Amino acid sequence: MGFIFFSAGAWMINSEVLVLNSGFIPIRITSLKEAICLLTSEKAVPVVEEDRYVRSPSISIRIPSVISIIGYSSFPRKRVAFSKLNVIYRDDMKCQFCGRRFSMRDLTVDHVIPRSRWELITGKTLREGFSTWKNLVCACRWCNGRKGNRLLHEIGWQLLREPFEPEYMPHLVISVDKARNRGWLPFCTFNVKLIDMVRTESY
Ligand SMILES: [Zn+2]
Repeated sequence: MGFIFFSAGAWMINSEVLVLNSGFIPIRITSLKEAICLLTSEKAVPVVEEDRYVRSPSISIRIPSVISIIGYSSFPRKRVAFSKLNVIYRDDMKCQFCGRRFSMRDLTVDHVIPRSRWELITGKTLREGFSTWKNLVCACRWCNGRKGNRLLHEIGWQLLREPFEPEYMPHLVISVDKARNRGWLPFCTFNVKLIDMVRTESY
């Protein structure tokens, strides 16, 4: 690309652009550079633009924050992979013991029935259901530490919600702040999980 990012600071080159399919469903996030390539090669059209421009010797283009791919109507569906991160997302970054939301660095996943009690309580081996959606919940590190090897009824705790295996997980996970700042919010109603990031939490 022969574009010059006029008066561009690193922020501009690092700006991310939301990519929609032709039906305006978010399919991915891309770099500004790639978005401009898609626009200039007429593979995409701008949907939301900023008041700033990037210029080449021959043309100037308004910086897009949302683009739509021409003639591409499908969208990726995510198989709901079992992972620690997805357990945390399933539970909306909310500790299932104390009910409070935390930043990612203060969150863990916790086995509702702990390892040392599993076989006795369930009559199953650890391979049978121990580390699965139904025995794992999002927990803050403080609750996780306090719970230890105990069962909930032994300490008078209750789960905020019974753990479950989600049938569907949106393809993109985007913070509400970013979506708002970049003008993406109106397009984030489908196939996007908006996360309200918690920056600091005193305890
Ligand atoms: Zn907690």
